[in-house]
Order: sequence, then structure tokens, then C-alpha cells
Amino acid sequence: MTCVVVGAGLTGLSAAWELIRAGTEVIVLESERRAGGVVVTERREGFIVEGGPDGFLAAEPDIQALARELGIGDRLVDQMAKGAMVWTGKRLEPLAEGHAAELLGIQVPTDVGAVPAVVAAQHAAPLQGGFRSFAGGMGEITEALAARLGPIIRTSQGVTGIAPTARGWRLAVTGGSLLEANGVVLTVPTWVAARLLAAVGVPGARELDDVVYAPSVTASLAYRRDQLNGRLDGSGFVRAADTGGVVRACTYAWLKYPDRAPAGYALLRAFLEPADGDPAALAHRELASVLGLSGPPLLSRVFHWRRGLPRYKPGHAERVAHVRERLARLAPLDIAGAGFDGVGVSACVKSGREAAQRVLGRLGVDPGAPPRSQPSPGRSLRG
Ligand SMILES: Cc1cc2nc3c(=O)[nH]c(=O)nc-3n(C[C@H](O)[C@H](O)[C@H](O)COP(=O)(O)OP(=O)(O)OC[C@H]3O[C@@H](n4cnc5c(N)ncnc54)[C@H](O)[C@@H]3O)c2cc1C
Repeated sequence: MTCVVVGAGLTGLSAAWELIRAGTEVIVLESERRAGGVVVTERREGFIVEGGPDGFLAAEPDIQALARELGIGDRLVDQMAKGAMVWTGKRLEPLAEGHAAELLGIQVPTDVGAVPAVVAAQHAAPLQGGFRSFAGGMGEITEALAARLGPIIRTSQGVTGIAPTARGWRLAVTGGSLLEANGVVLTVPTWVAARLLAAVGVPGARELDDVVYAPSVTASLAYRRDQLNGRLDGSGFVRAADTGGVVRACTYAWLKYPDRAPAGYALLRAFLEPADGDPAALAHRELASVLGLSGPPLLSRVFHWRRGLPRYKPGHAERVAHVRERLARLAPLDIAGAGFDGVGVSACVKSGREAAQRVLGRLGVDPGAPPRSQPSPGRSLRG
């Protein structure tokens, strides 16, 4: 019994973990050169720099349960500084709870279990119960998964097409190889899933492409503490509408979670509007005036996601349910991930694991069976 997971973001790795635990043979195909998707943590000169998510709501159980299964439960850390400020154009003032998302004009999906707080978290909104992360950054969870899954993850192997066979599915992989699978979990962004599923005639598949992925640019800037003029309150600020500038929000990363910067240093993470020019220079210039910074940053790191956080349109949950209903009439194949079941990292873990369980169920494998040792990778037909 071979299952293929397409995409090695947090969702795909979680799905693969679920499948492996049930004793099936699993292959994970990832188009990029690294696993993890938008979860990226860079550790440089004592700084922990996040390229994607930096945490999750402490109340979200799925990612924490997975961390404990992987043996990294003791690496969970609580948010330290709480509360956020708003930049009025003249000064920083305390922000009323939950207003960060509103100020940023972030759409809150109403018809799925999406976690709007996740987005607010990015922009330092204070929420009851606070947030958590990992001691070494969010990359710890995807790194732990990748380490446990090992060579079944095949990077630089994007799936270009799928086709039904008598015993399941055949997947075409970049470079021309083909792979046979009894079950498939697609954990790719919706525009990729829409194309793959529409090509095999799944009704409603094209409408999955209604999900819009917003671009995201962040600039992380490191300073000596003495370059900061005075004390900073809260875990960051958001900019009020109509105040000009390109920095929409800023997280005081080294105050928000422990050990994000060496002693005596500060790490800021700015979220920028798409703009012409070097994002790090733009962010520094603006933060220098808001926070009273003196002198240039010691290091900077920019992450640019051309398609970052997915935003759902009304009726999204119904469209996803409709596609799943049609997929249930075909050989075992399911869809999972941020574009389908909620954007937060914990929602992605849940989505991946549940899709894997549905595929296992259709293959007649008991997902609750005790974990078995990892079998050898599946059969490659060609290439
Ligand atoms: C800047 C940013 C900040 C965020 N902050 C937070 C936060 O603080 N808290 C929070 O909870 N969430 C946050 N999120 C959201 C959360 O990180 C993501 O929703 C989640 O990590 C997405 O995981 P995924 O596996 O579903 O998708 P992805 O990470 O996008 O993974 C999909 C994978 O599929 C691969 N792929 C694509 N096409 C193919 C193909 N044809 N064949 C094979 N592989 C393919 C991609 O290369 C990718 O690796 C943030 C997101 C961004 C972008």
C-alpha cells in the first residue's frame, strides 16, 4: 500500500506523519529544494529570524499535540511581552484588544474554521491566552517532522499531473518520472490543486482557485539595544490607516519570544506594503522615526512571499466540501492545507492529519492502529 503526499509544507508533513504511523508506505513529493513550505526559521549569529509564521494561539491543540508526539513538547515557549500599540502618525498608543486585524484591513473568513487571530498574531495583536512558539523558532516543528520522515521526502520533485489507474493514481513528476499510488493527499496551494484536479475532470475543482493569496514582505532587522531610544511597550505595533508609510506593522521579536536575539541586542520584524525599493532600507527608515533608532541595522533579512496568506471568498467551505464529495467517488485522494481548511499552522496540522485519515479509511487501513516501523519507499515506474 503506497500513499503519496504532494507538497512538503507543514500540512503535507503532518499528513505524511499520520500515514507513516498507520504503517503505510509513503512518499512525499515537494517541488522546492527544501521541505517546510512557508515555515522558515533562519538562525544567524545568535538571532532567530522567522520568514513565515512566528507562533500560534496557545489555545490551539493540534500543533502542540504533534510537537509532543515528535518529542519536542518541551521546546514549546510562551509569548513574553503582551499587548500591542498603534502608530497614530505622531505617537504609539495602546491598542484595544483584537483591533490589529481590523486596522490592517484583514478579512476574517466567516464560513470556515480559519483562525483570524493567526493573522492578528503576525501583527502583534493581544489575544486572551496569548501565543506560543518553539524555543528555536517555528522551523523546529517542520525540521522535526522532516527528520522523522527522512528520505521519503523527495525535494525538487513537483507533481505536474495526476491520472486515475485501476489501482489508484499515477502521478507525473518534473523530469518525466511517474509514480503509482493507492492513495494521494494533495497539500499544495489551491491554484495548483485546482489545475491538477480540473485536468482529471473533478467537477468544481476550478472554483478552488477562487482563493486569493496575498503577497507578504517582511524585513527582520537586528540592532544593538543601545541603538533603541528608550523602552518599547507590548510586543509590537500596527500602523493606523491613513498615516502613510510602507510598514503596516512591526513585531518586537526579541521581546515577544525568548532568545530571539543575543543579550544586548534587539530584533525587529516589519511587515511591509508592496513598494518599490529595498524593503530592509524602507523598513529601517520608517522604524527609525517611529521607534527612535540610531544608526543602521547590524543585519537584515527580507522574506518575500509572492503568494503568502490565503484569503477565502464567501462560500469557500461549501466549494471545498463539494470537491471533497466528488473526490469520494474516485480512488482515494484528498485535499488539505491552508488554502482549504484554515490558514493557521495548527489548522494546517489538523487538516493534513484528517485528510490522511480519510485516505487511510478509504484504503481500509485503521488510522488508530499502533505505529509501525517505517517501510521502504514506494515503487518508481520510470526515471
Ligand atoms: C508571512 C506569513 C506569516 C504567517 N504567520 C503565521 C503565524 O504567525 N501563525 C500561524 O498560525 N500561521 C501563520 N501563517 C500561515 C501558515 O504559516 C501557513 O498557512 C501554513 O504554514 C501553510 O502550510 P501548508 O503546508 O498548507 O502550505 P505551504 O507551506 O504553502 O506548503 C505547500 C507546499 O507545496 C509545495 N508545492 C506546490 N506545488 C507543488 C507541486 N506541483 N508538487 C509538489 N509540491 C508542490 C510548495 O513548494 C510548498 O512547500 C503565516 C503565513 C505567511 C506566509
